[in-house]
Amino acid sequence: MTEEKELILLIEDEPQMRRFLRITLESHGYRFVEAGTAQEGLMQASMRNPDVILLDLGLPDLDGLEVTERLREWTQTPIIVISAREQEQDKVKALDAGADDYLTKPFSAGELMARVRVALRHALRLRSGQNEPVFAQADLRVDLAARRVFVRDSEIHLTPIEYKLLTALIRHAGKVVTHRQLLLEVWGPGQVSEVQYLRVYMTQLRHKLEADPARPRFLLNEPGIGYRLNADEE
Ligand code: CA
Repeated sequence: MTEEKELILLIEDEPQMRRFLRITLESHGYRFVEAGTAQEGLMQASMRNPDVILLDLGLPDLDGLEVTERLREWTQTPIIVISAREQEQDKVKALDAGADDYLTKPFSAGELMARVRVALRHALRLRSGQNEPVFAQADLRVDLAARRVFVRDSEIHLTPIEYKLLTALIRHAGKVVTHRQLLLEVWGPGQVSEVQYLRVYMTQLRHKLEADPARPRFLLNEPGIGYRLNADEE
């Protein structure tokens, strides 16, 4: 019995971009369905129930933010938004509205496939409902049940805020998390604009967890957007 490959929905109005996406996904063995407008995309999403949605933010009928909001009313399927440089603000709004990740045009086939793989892994975790009690990535090991953190087998002491910040990133491992989302999850709704808190605590965390804090392997910066916990290190 052959296993059916994951289904990817492309919502993109530019034929050239759609062609690039289609060729890339096809050459990696994914199934896909295409939509050239937001309305068609929303319809396809509800009919086909895809495993990942690639969503262009600049669509002719509705903007990508509204599409993200409508999708999130009923599905947790990972959404990767595709934006042009001038849509930076829309990208952050789409992430805050529940999109999982983003790609800025132009991007390579390799970047696209890396993001799709992370999204699929995340979807699998959501579906199976399993929360791993231990997060392990290269030298870093976090025992979430015992609330203990290790780097190369030596235990690291984290303050309560540092630990909360780290576990918030672990919950979204591999995905970009906006400043706003992190502030909300760690400090609560009253502090969502205090981006400098994040900078301070992220610097502290890097000094405790990274071999070279200036060139982090785990706690990656997404300039102007937020942070990402690298989940691809072997
Ligand atoms: Ca477009």
